[in-house]
This record gives sequence, structure tokens and C-alpha cells, in this order.
Amino acid sequence: MTREAFAESVHVRAPGKINVYLGVGGRHDDGYHALATVFQAVSLYEDVIATDAPDFTLSVTGVDDPSTVPVDDRNLAMRAAKMLASATGYEGGVHLELRKSVPVAGGMGGGSADAAAALVACDALWGTGLSPQRLHELAARLGADVPFALHGGTAVGTGRGDQLNPALARGRFDWVLVTSEAGLSTPEIYARLDAHRTEIGALADDPPMSLDVPIPVLQALRAGDPHSLAASMFNDLEVSALLERPALDDIINEGLHAGALSGIVSGSGPTIAFLCETPDSAQYVQGELQKNGRTALHVHGPVPGARIIS
Ligand code: ATP
Repeated sequence: MTREAFAESVHVRAPGKINVYLGVGGRHDDGYHALATVFQAVSLYEDVIATDAPDFTLSVTGVDDPSTVPVDDRNLAMRAAKMLASATGYEGGVHLELRKSVPVAGGMGGGSADAAAALVACDALWGTGLSPQRLHELAARLGADVPFALHGGTAVGTGRGDQLNPALARGRFDWVLVTSEAGLSTPEIYARLDAHRTEIGALADDPPMSLDVPIPVLQALRAGDPHSLAASMFNDLEVSALLERPALDDIINEGLHAGALSGIVSGSGPTIAFLCETPDSAQYVQGELQKNGRTALHVHGPVPGARIIS
């Protein structure tokens, strides 16, 4: 098949994620921490439109401050496109248009979603036809959260968070997200956790390098029971995100006061994710938080991973 047989432009949508559970263990020599996490993909999406072009270029819309998102090789989507080209011997380029909805540096894996979407879009645009397994391998090389953005749904991540296994989840979970204008740096939040653990003497001489997700979290997901999930949600990074930004605690209290079942820092923050009992209660919680001047979004999960829209 000649290249001309393929579309000139491919539109892919990939979801942001919440870490319903995030346990952090010891730090490996390469700087990554041992993790046990449960990701859930939620209905807040990144759109990536890949268009045939002689060179590699990228543009971004949907962000308040364009300077927060690099448009060069520091952009994970750009790296994804170039990695796919070099892995497959593709000699042309691509223009990537990123339409962002996931908050930048918000702890929801927006950059990882862009990278997963760019892989899927370029694979279709260039007709490189990689197997799902090869796409997964490239995704894992780009970043620990990228494979999940490719697969979506609900999944357990172990190792550095990149060893994925689907988790059974029944029904739908309703979440209210409160986003913040200024992001938090993921490496700084991990470093702050290590410093905090040293300070309080909680850094074991021999920290666990392999962790498991507690059974009650998996049971709650399998049962589709928001009450049990609310009782078992946990994030080891929450303490360091709150040390870095104490005002996040006020947001958590406001959401609980409005009737959310539980509120948790998403990933490395600063987005706060509130689990609600029903779609109606989520709408109410969203309204109350908005009345307090918060930017609150009602989303649901699980939703599928990166997929072609057109
Ligand atoms: P993480 O996945 O590490 O938890 P996050 O979800 O908190 O990160 P992202 O929005 O993915 O945050 O990006 C974090 C940083 O990465 C940004 O501050 C930005 O400098 C850089 N970055 C690289 N590529 C992208 C991208 N496509 N979109 C947004 N930020 C990007």
C-alpha cells in the first residue's frame, strides 16, 4: 500500500487518570520509586490531531499559560512521535496539534495521555501498523504512566507503575475534580516525600522494593461500591503534596462538607479527586465547590484508553 492511501490527518483522544490508590516504596538506583497503584481513566480528555508534515512540529491549545507546555523535544508527545519514527524507519515528519483539557502538572497524567495519543495517531497516519505489544513497549520507554493512557479502564500498576494488569471494576464511579491554576512538579513531590520520611524516621533501612495494592481496594472496585472504595482510597504522596501546598487541605474539607464520600490528592497533585455516591450527588458537590470559587469538574470512570476519533 502506498503512503498516499492513508489519511492526511488522524484525530486521537486519550484520557487523564486518577490514582485511586498510590503506595510508594523504596527508591531504586535509577531514581524511580517502587510503586503499587490503581489507575482509573476518567472522562477528561486530551485530543491530539496528527497531520502529515515534512518536519516534526507541535502546537498547543486549551492552556491558560502556554509557557507551561514545551513545544520542542521536551514535550512527551513530540518524543513519542520521534520514537515511533525511529523505531519503524519512517522518514517523514508530523505536525501534532494538542488540545489540552487535563490540567498541566496536575497529577492526572496529561502529558502521558498526549504521548499515548501521539503514538496511536502517528501509527495510523504513517500506516506503520505496530502490534499492541510494540506500542506498549514504546509507551513504557516514554514514561511510567504512558502505557496506562494507552489502555485506559482501571488497572493495577506495579514496578515503577508501568507493569500493568487490568483490574475488574463494575459500573461507573462519579468523581468531582478540583483543579488548581499552578501545578506541582512530580519529581519535587517525590523528593519531598523522601525528605519527610527521613525527618520523621519513617524511612526504613530496607524499604520495600516490591509493593502490592491492598485487597479491599480491589474488592471495592470489583463490587462497584463507592462507599467501600471511599474507605480504602489512599495516596502516599498526599502528605508531601499537602506539605508543599497546605491550602489543598481546605479544598478536601470543603468537598467532604458538601457530601463527597472521600477526597484524595490525585497522583502528585495538586488536583483533588472527590469520589461521590451517585451522578446527582457529584453534581451537587460540584455546585457547592463552584460556589466557593473552586474550578470543579464532574467526570466519571472508567473510560477507554487512547482511541481514534476520526
Ligand atoms: P505526571 O504524569 O508526571 O504525574 P502530571 O500529570 O502532573 O505529570 P503533566 O501535565 O503530564 O503533569 O506534565 C508535567 C510537566 O511535563 C509539565 O510541567 C511540562 O513542563 C512537561 N510536559 C511535557 N510534555 C507535556 C505535555 N504534552 N503536556 C503537558 N506538559 C508536558
